[in-house]
Amino acid sequence: MIRIGLVMLQGSRHAHITALEQAANESNIDIEVVELRSSSDLISSEIDGIIIPGGESTTMRLIGNSNFSGLLPSLMTLIRDNPHIPVMGTCAGAILLTDPQDEYTSLIDASIDRNAYGTQTNSFQADVQTSLLKMNFPGVFIRAPKFRSVNNPNSIIATCNGEVVGVRKNNLIALTFHPELSKNRGFHSWLIGQAVIYSEGSK
Ligand code: GLN
Repeated sequence: MIRIGLVMLQGSRHAHITALEQAANESNIDIEVVELRSSSDLISSEIDGIIIPGGESTTMRLIGNSNFSGLLPSLMTLIRDNPHIPVMGTCAGAILLTDPQDEYTSLIDASIDRNAYGTQTNSFQADVQTSLLKMNFPGVFIRAPKFRSVNNPNSIIATCNGEVVGVRKNNLIALTFHPELSKNRGFHSWLIGQAVIYSEGSK
């Protein structure tokens, strides 16, 4: 059984559950989605992969750093202590990974600007070219951020209209779009596949 921890602080969480379940079915892998709301959820469960969804990063920071939850500091520590655990941050999740705003450095070698395409009405769909999946992927961009700079060109895993929209470091991917809102389960399948490898290595 592969356990995927899904950050449930706010935002586009339930579409990730559906996407994970469909991807797991397609590849015949048993998964359990572990819903993460507080640091105790993280401590009490062994997880093989993590998704940080899109939503509103400021709200996620407020809730996730509150005494009530404390999830974000624990999550960042877990990711830093386990550099090979697979992690997918989408949109606001990519913002949290790239700009954790804690006392340590970014988890992705890049910098990012929030709401860089404009307001909600400037949300759009466009084809993403992704070397990770070796295909074009239907990208859904909702008040999306933009990578301002990417330190290592080899870490770029996705582009759209000439802009970088996906960056990887180790097993951690930050995407500025919402893969859970398209019908293509490629990124979720990738995460599950990496989680299988990670779980085998960690046993
Ligand atoms: N604009 C949001 C933020 O700054 C991100 C949007 C999204 O996750 N769809 O957090």
